Amino acid sequence: MHFFIYLYDKMFSLEGSCYLRSIGVSLGYICRTSSITYYFHNFDATLTKYWINGCRGQSSHNLLQQEDPEYNVKRQTLYDYYHPLEFDPAIPLDEKAKLMVEWWEKTHALLIEGGLTYNAIQNSVAEATIAFRDGVTELFELLEEKGVPVLIFSAGLADIIEEVLKQKVHRSFKNVRIVSNRMVFDENGRLQSFKGKTIHVLNKNEHALDMAAPLHDHCDDLNGLGDEKSSLKKRTNVLLLGDHIGDLGMSDGLDYETRISVGFLNDKVESSLESYRKAFDILYLNDSSMHGVVKLASHLCSTESD
Ligand SMILES: [Mg+2]
Repeated sequence: MHFFIYLYDKMFSLEGSCYLRSIGVSLGYICRTSSITYYFHNFDATLTKYWINGCRGQSSHNLLQQEDPEYNVKRQTLYDYYHPLEFDPAIPLDEKAKLMVEWWEKTHALLIEGGLTYNAIQNSVAEATIAFRDGVTELFELLEEKGVPVLIFSAGLADIIEEVLKQKVHRSFKNVRIVSNRMVFDENGRLQSFKGKTIHVLNKNEHALDMAAPLHDHCDDLNGLGDEKSSLKKRTNVLLLGDHIGDLGMSDGLDYETRISVGFLNDKVESSLESYRKAFDILYLNDSSMHGVVKLASHLCSTESD
């Protein structure tokens, strides 16, 4: 099925089964006013498929199998306790944030105590039920070629996300930065600690500004835009991808001019459709591919260089 948005002077088609909300500013305007665009992606169930061969795809957190299986059971017990609390509407947000920190810190402690090795991460990813949506590699290649900064936000584990990219895409991308929990390994490849502040589901968006600025500079340098960057920074536009309404907060605090948000509604379509349609500019259903986003990104990038 094809849907069309009439944007400024171009007819644009987005492939797949999707809903559109009218975008306040025309694409032509976006392209004329800025030559740099940020892309913000959420990882689990946005870049990755929700279903794989009839099974629920695993997240970067739950695919991990420690050498000592007792620790997998312990982490699962924490999940069973805290996961319902994450979605309990009766718990106030500040209290919930404390519970999420508690959950993440206990989980991280179990990974250290259980002696997790990098080797176990590699094996876990190799055996995991995880796959990127079709078109993700094309999207990353396009954005790298155009020097567009990409931030992947996740409350999961950066080292695992990198390993998934390595094993499934077989390469890394110099314009991509992962904003997630990062592990520190000792010389034997054994987990020693975690770097920086714990990033959980309710605070992952707070890091947008810190992480965006250096990556933006890096991509400006790649593009030879060093001198112009201060003025370009003020005219930043954002393409944001997520599978939860809360993912829209990924761009909070950024001084952008225009944002196009793309949502992936993977589950409970009937009960969530209305709220997702209101929240996202473009909404894909049924575990759709990334091809429509590639088309949109490629249109944005090609018009930029006209
Ligand atoms: Mg997600």
